[in-house]
Amino acid sequence: MNKQENPYQMALRQFDEAVKYLKLKRGIIEYLRYPKRELTVNFPVEMDDGSVKIFTGYRVHHNTVLGPTKGGIRYHPGVTLDEVRALAMWMTWKCAVVGLPYGGSKGGVVCDPKKMSGIELENLTRRYTTEISMMIGPESDIPAPDVGTDAQIMAWIMDTYSMHKGYSVPAVVTGKPISIGGSLGRAEATGRGVTIITREACRHLGMPLEGATVVVQGYGKVGAVAAYLLHEQGCKIIAASDSRGCIYGPDGFDARHAKRFKKETGSVVGYPGTETVSQDEFWGLPCDILIPAAMEGQITAENAPKIKAKLIVEGANGPTTPDADEILRERGIPVAPDILANAGGVTVSYFEWVQALQAFFWSEEEIDQRLERIMTKSFAEVWALAQEKEISMRTAALVRAIDRVAEAIYVRGIYP
Ligand code: GLU
Repeated sequence: MNKQENPYQMALRQFDEAVKYLKLKRGIIEYLRYPKRELTVNFPVEMDDGSVKIFTGYRVHHNTVLGPTKGGIRYHPGVTLDEVRALAMWMTWKCAVVGLPYGGSKGGVVCDPKKMSGIELENLTRRYTTEISMMIGPESDIPAPDVGTDAQIMAWIMDTYSMHKGYSVPAVVTGKPISIGGSLGRAEATGRGVTIITREACRHLGMPLEGATVVVQGYGKVGAVAAYLLHEQGCKIIAASDSRGCIYGPDGFDARHAKRFKKETGSVVGYPGTETVSQDEFWGLPCDILIPAAMEGQITAENAPKIKAKLIVEGANGPTTPDADEILRERGIPVAPDILANAGGVTVSYFEWVQALQAFFWSEEEIDQRLERIMTKSFAEVWALAQEKEISMRTAALVRAIDRVAEAIYVRGIYP
């Protein structure tokens, strides 16, 4: 992660740019710049060697006006409170831009899950869940996976919360395994959403998807899925990267096979038929579509001038800094922004929550169709606003989202 750029400052700069296009009271603007509530917890975990280690975790609720808060939990050594604040704020806008009845939240624990055993991860998860239990619940705040967490971790959260209650509460988390009330289609949902937005953006820009060359930064839960779904729609995946390095194969490679290779070897580096390239070369590769799907602050004022893509679709949250955004705009490279492009995950999380609450489950076909409808409609709305006001898709998406939240604040009124 680029530590120079504070993610919360980034989120605020984007917000300040968007509110210029709305007629909001000064106080309402100020209100939306801050998280509603934040919790920091320091807690002990017994490690495999018998030692006790203290971990720091956070849970932040940005806004609850439209409904319960929704947002993932991140396990990463670089987690900070400002990062969690930014991610919570982006969740508010993400849910609002696709019309979900949720506010935004996020959580994180400073840890390196890659270096922890299964038992240590389970202990950490159960204790963290207990520590933040006053913040979460099926009607108040519903966690989900994010960087470094997965369906198994959601299962432990659901179990811990349920044990405290004395009965099973499947709706307290989403992204959990199918066997305990998870939703079909959730695992692929974020990548599928990125694919839908890529297709719609290409259609509106008059760029053919067939044969389009694609570069994917971050070959994980989002990037790899987007890559193989785009590959199946006729795109040529020519480069990918992960925390260990970058690969390039100008003739294109089998994205699904590369995902299996990464699962087996731990990295895409060394995938047959590709060469290893430097970070610098990676960002400068000529391509039609660039999908940053790793962490925030990756496309910066430094590498933005080198980018040779015709379209950027953000699979990650906050991958482009505001300075880079300006450079890309000047260079005429459109960016389908995170809060729209990666909203497929939280959209299917919403379906999972609805299914858990009603204890009645939908088919994968139904899920995919509903996701398709929401993503396509949301893209069209953002695109139309961007054209009408001659603003970037990011600002247009934020304008729509902030407007929805502000409208709800006005209608509900300020308490008391
Ligand atoms: N962590 C994902 C995101 O950033 C999913 C959140 C959710 O499903 O609640 O959108």
